[in-house]
Amino acid sequence: MSIPKPPWLRRRWPSGPNYEQVRKLLSEGHLHTVCQEARCPNIWECFSQKTATFLILGDRCTRNCGFCAVAHGPSAPPDPGEPERVAAAVKRMALKYVVITSVTRDDLQDGGASFFADTIESVRSLVHEIIVEVLTPDFKGNFEAVKTVICAGPHVFNHNIETVPRLYSMVRPQADYHTSLNVLKMAKQIDPSIITKSGIMLGLGEKEHEITKVFQDLLMSGCNVLTIGQYLQPTKKHLPVKNFVPPEKFQELKDEALNMGFDGVASGPFIRSSYHAKELFKSV
Ligand code: SF4
Repeated sequence: MSIPKPPWLRRRWPSGPNYEQVRKLLSEGHLHTVCQEARCPNIWECFSQKTATFLILGDRCTRNCGFCAVAHGPSAPPDPGEPERVAAAVKRMALKYVVITSVTRDDLQDGGASFFADTIESVRSLVHEIIVEVLTPDFKGNFEAVKTVICAGPHVFNHNIETVPRLYSMVRPQADYHTSLNVLKMAKQIDPSIITKSGIMLGLGEKEHEITKVFQDLLMSGCNVLTIGQYLQPTKKHLPVKNFVPPEKFQELKDEALNMGFDGVASGPFIRSSYHAKELFKSV
């Protein structure tokens, strides 16, 4: 039996012409966003502010995480025209900051790393004054794949740790906690000046001391920026919410993480890895 949503999770979403304009632009460009595929609760706000997180490499993931609404199953071959279409959409949306993410493509030799690189290069060649953040899969911990992405010159390398190691078998069964930490460490080894970022969801049954340990492990991997948000069940088929974390607790965790040494932290019930990404980047 799912627990009722608390008042702080009920709010009216802005909508308006910008939302429709962005939605239309994306569908005309045959482009996917994680906003739509993962049923992000902030989509109205972000689209209305003309921001979106582009989902490349198709809309079907080769993995099946218990919290994620993205469709999973066999994926189509990558579409060679996609990097330029993303760049064209970024230009048309007059974005100053773009987040590029993807489904996990364990079926590809480099996990899709070269496609990330092509998309970053296409965007940067078309829109010069752009800040690029990539939110990547773990590339199965493949150093060369991470290097391919970093060498394409993103400003922020984001890879979500998602939850505490004890819950991985339920939440991210095809992923590995230490592999994800290593991916963040590799990014720093390859380019020590890059900003690395990660995110954790709360409300899946994690304990307070486990959260603090994740903060320590991320800092040990050189992570600069952290996002902390509330897990929300996308459909009844997905993992149930174990608890709703109150806003004051998110504030407490933000203070704790900043005191521990993160350069930037966004923490709150509606915080997602690329929510207000530009503002967080500016705060670092
Ligand atoms: S790997 Fe990413 S896109 Fe795939 S199911 Fe997990 S969270 Fe969703």
